[in-house]
Amino acid sequence: MTKRTLLDLEGEYAIRLMDMPPHAHGIVVYDDEGFANVYINAHLTAAQQKDAADHELDHIAHDDINSDEDIRAVEARADLTRAIPALKRAADLVPKPDLPAAPPFDPGKYLREYDPVLAVLEDRWLQPDE
Ligand SMILES: [Zn+2]
Repeated sequence: MTKRTLLDLEGEYAIRLMDMPPHAHGIVVYDDEGFANVYINAHLTAAQQKDAADHELDHIAHDDINSDEDIRAVEARADLTRAIPALKRAADLVPKPDLPAAPPFDPGKYLREYDPVLAVLEDRWLQPDE
């Protein structure tokens, strides 16, 4: 397994490269202390890896693991806000409701439930820019 730490900032999160299926770009896994582990597909190009890391960091910044929004809305926002700084600032102004803590994160369950949606979204990400 390819596993290499790219970045480790003051104990808030770590980004690591890992072997993943071709359609997967990245995933965030929180440990019991709320430390965010970001895994990025080692088989992406460097530019795609940076893009995927930005996308996952946007999920962390918006606490999407505790969001009850539709996964497609969350993914669309993470995709857009990292690309458009003004939109990102606006998104940060939206009040976040107090939600109960999420159950312990199960990456296998996440992939089983959301893989079809992510596969569709990530197929789009894999298209070269116009
Ligand atoms: Zn995402």
